[in-house]
Amino acid sequence: MRVAIIGAGISGLALAYYLQKLGIPYDLFEANEEVGGNIRTIKESGYLLELGPNSLQYTPELQMLVRELKLEQQVIPTARAGHHRYVLRNGSYEKLPTSPFALLSNSVFSWKTRLRILQERDIPPADIDYETITQFFERRFGPGVLEYVVHPFVTGIYGGDPSKLLVHKAFPLLKKMEAQYGSVLKGLMKQQDSPFSYANISFVSGMQTLPNAIAEKLISLHTGLHVEMITRNQGKYIISCATTGDYDTEEYDMLVLALPALPAAELLHFTFPGMSAALQNIHYPPMAIVHSVYNRSDVSHKLDGYGTLHPSAECPFAAGSIWSSSLFDGRCHPHEVLFTSFVGGAQYESNALTDKDKLLECVHKELALTHGITTDKPVFQSVHQMEHSIPQYDLYIEDAHHMAAQLEQDGLFIAANWQAGVSVHSCIRHAKELAHKINLKRPAPSIAE
Ligand SMILES: Cc1cc2nc3c(=O)[nH]c(=O)nc-3n(C[C@H](O)[C@H](O)[C@H](O)COP(=O)(O)OP(=O)(O)OC[C@H]3O[C@@H](n4cnc5c(N)ncnc54)[C@H](O)[C@@H]3O)c2cc1C
Repeated sequence: MRVAIIGAGISGLALAYYLQKLGIPYDLFEANEEVGGNIRTIKESGYLLELGPNSLQYTPELQMLVRELKLEQQVIPTARAGHHRYVLRNGSYEKLPTSPFALLSNSVFSWKTRLRILQERDIPPADIDYETITQFFERRFGPGVLEYVVHPFVTGIYGGDPSKLLVHKAFPLLKKMEAQYGSVLKGLMKQQDSPFSYANISFVSGMQTLPNAIAEKLISLHTGLHVEMITRNQGKYIISCATTGDYDTEEYDMLVLALPALPAAELLHFTFPGMSAALQNIHYPPMAIVHSVYNRSDVSHKLDGYGTLHPSAECPFAAGSIWSSSLFDGRCHPHEVLFTSFVGGAQYESNALTDKDKLLECVHKELALTHGITTDKPVFQSVHQMEHSIPQYDLYIEDAHHMAAQLEQDGLFIAANWQAGVSVHSCIRHAKELAHKINLKRPAPSIAE
């Protein structure tokens, strides 16, 4: 049995790694020379810049992988103050509570809203089809939590619009807690394994350390091979690449797409047109990542936390910023500070596609106003624009998930963030589970063997 995996982002890499551990032959194809997909770290003018994720939740799964890859010495946890996030309210930043229970003593909410949050324990569970995140929070916690907590957090994780994302797809744990304990608050109290239990980490040389370390272990990784077409012959898959005919004759028993939905749709156009059409409907809003460096002495804000979230009610330009140099050492010179700002996502799409110079200027102006920055321009600034950023778990993704489940009968599997969940640790967990699922399909050895 041989498996073809297309795409060496974290999903494809992790799957190849776990298949290799199980002794299952595979070929992993990646269009770029570098692996990691969305996870990309660059060095520019001496600054260490992240173009994708800035930190990872250090879940038990990830801890085990880090140990196996012998990366423990490279891991850096976020600085102590890193669990504080700030939300923009009436033009200045207020500290958000660090846990759901701290919400009750936090000034972001009125007394009425705090009381309503407490009453969540008595709201009976309900199973509502296609309930959005906004509807779920409004039903359980009341409307007071939406603007300044739910909205900015959903923007921070999905770059998404909570009035469109489906709660059971985007935050399945919340629905599980409601069903199991009758209340999210009760669930958080009882559940040990909540998202709040894990530290956030990066690596000394940045996030790309992780995909690079996995790639080094792989024996059948082929980079610089853009897969152009997939065909199927008598139940086997054949892969055609743009630059070489090397793999045209290889037949695979199983195919795993570890690709964003749009390139996956192109590949499935002829073989599985229904699935291809469903994939084309998955929305990826554009996003721009802007890095700005200032002299510390020019910034009056203490920058004592993870960074900022901007609710749309404040009509901001950026969706928020990470205070990268407050979180991790070695991102810029000690006398400087580095901001990583996110512009775009579902609710600020047009801002992400603004002309580069204008975009940089708008980000600088907003940072200056909100952080008490006295200088006219940053010491360094750069922008990386993405036409397609994070898949939206809205109504349209339902179809693709449904069809993906059916195609497993044909030996076609998905390991990608539009199926696994968008966080890096979800992609790794999903890849590990998929490797075990594939292992179960391995034919039993014949008696002669
Ligand atoms: C700006 C941004 C910030 C983020 N921040 C965080 C964060 O802080 N924490 C967190 O946990 N997650 C974060 N995420 C989410 C996380 O980075 C992604 O969900 C995850 O990296 C997706 O991995 P993937 O392997 O599923 O897909 P991808 O990373 O998209 O990888 C797909 C790979 O397929 C390759 N490919 C495409 N077409 C072909 C083809 N035809 N042939 C061969 N190869 C092909 C691509 O080159 C790519 O390498 C962020 C995402 C973005 C965009």
